[in-house]
Amino acid sequence: MAGMRYAPCGMCKQMTAHNVVAVEDRSSEEGSDVYYFLTCAGCRCVSMANQYNSVMGIRAFLEQLMILKVGDQGTFEANLDEFLREGYISKMHRKAMSHILDSGHAAIHRMHKPTEEDLNIALDITEAITAAIYFHESDAKSVAERVPPRTPRPPKV
Ligand SMILES: [Zn+2]
Repeated sequence: MAGMRYAPCGMCKQMTAHNVVAVEDRSSEEGSDVYYFLTCAGCRCVSMANQYNSVMGIRAFLEQLMILKVGDQGTFEANLDEFLREGYISKMHRKAMSHILDSGHAAIHRMHKPTEEDLNIALDITEAITAAIYFHESDAKSVAERVPPRTPRPPKV
């Protein structure tokens, strides 16, 4: 089965586009459980990915991300509010995260099965928030370090 997925590449040390070589769907009434056999579009490295109740996994990931940064405020909504108050996310991100969390909650408690598109959207948003919090600050610092210092202007006579 052809197709593309974003996945972490061990060789490229980042999320990269991967070609889907094969898919094994072992989903049951208990939940979605899909295995992907992938090759990195960059370095051709072969890997396998398992997507098991992914929205649930994304929800858990976001919860851990928030707790690491602002501590556990007791509820998901309180963690989101603190995350916003501390400036890690914008109001727009807070709303988007809230929607992802609702979907994850429904997957856990109401047997909701998000579509592949829903999962991809949730992953894109999660990736963007994670990148902004963990990578953009240090990436921007690296850019700043490569900028040559300004030479002082000669004094006006
Ligand atoms: Zn790679």
